[in-house]
Amino acid sequence: MAAPEYAWVNGLLKWEDATCHISSLAFKYGAAVFEGIRAYWNAEQEALYVWQLEEHLKRLEYSQRFMRYDRIFTVEEGAAALMELLKANGIKSNVHIAMTAFLSGPGQPYLMGPVSLAVTATARSDDKAGGLNVQVSSWRRAPDSSLPQRVKANGNYLNGRLAGMEAHRNGYDSAIMLTQAGKVSEGPAMCFFMVRNGVAVTPDKQSDILESITRDTVIRLLKEDGIPVEERPIDRSELADAEEAFFCGTAWEIAPIRSIDRLDLGSEAPGPITARLRDRFKAIATGADPDHPEWRTKVDFD
Ligand code: PMP
Repeated sequence: MAAPEYAWVNGLLKWEDATCHISSLAFKYGAAVFEGIRAYWNAEQEALYVWQLEEHLKRLEYSQRFMRYDRIFTVEEGAAALMELLKANGIKSNVHIAMTAFLSGPGQPYLMGPVSLAVTATARSDDKAGGLNVQVSSWRRAPDSSLPQRVKANGNYLNGRLAGMEAHRNGYDSAIMLTQAGKVSEGPAMCFFMVRNGVAVTPDKQSDILESITRDTVIRLLKEDGIPVEERPIDRSELADAEEAFFCGTAWEIAPIRSIDRLDLGSEAPGPITARLRDRFKAIATGADPDHPEWRTKVDFD
């Protein structure tokens, strides 16, 4: 996919000028926090909708505050930067957005500034394939007492990368990571749901997960559909009794799981609850279904 014309690093600039110095704390120590965001193009309405923009920018504020940055990019600043960039690039298709607040200067690892904001917005049409074969990873999720997963810090992603690389080496599509205590946590960049006896179950927020925006959305949509939802610790042995399972997240959207550790789930992937959820999610995100307008921010190209 061709690179867009512009990126945004403390201001609009040409894509090829959007660089980060090798002496920066971001490069040397992973001193950066970020958000992955999507915008959906609705061809019939000729409209681009950013999906849950405010929720993402609030989490970015939290991550910056947690890392004690000496300058915090606010929701309003992040939204203004993104809108300027989307307008400049004028991409009229589905878009993937990365917004990173990073320590752009050199120095000691304990410094908390100077902070820069980088935004990219690139065309993205890939829908993740359904029917994933996944393994329970030998890599455990880093706990809140070591590397808090509710902070969306770049450094955390080494943990998930190890699990993802192992899964691919072993011929799987992805991995489910367990907590240090052996309970189900999440995938490398997505949250986990299973349906067991008609109840949708997902690990609770104390299971070392990212407090995922898609997870909250899924819980809301399932409840609206009359499906009971439980947020609780999940034992590994429960996975073998699931009728359906799926991952969810900004990049993965709703991705049905077919098998776990080579054991097929109780129904074809996607099962009926997952399939309906995926259709509804997509319709609302693209604005084809007018429900939940508060989750969509329309881009003004004029
Ligand atoms: N867990 C991790 C580790 C992630 O990186 C992501 C992607 N941001 C998710 C879960 C899903 O979170 P969200 O729905 O907010 O994208």
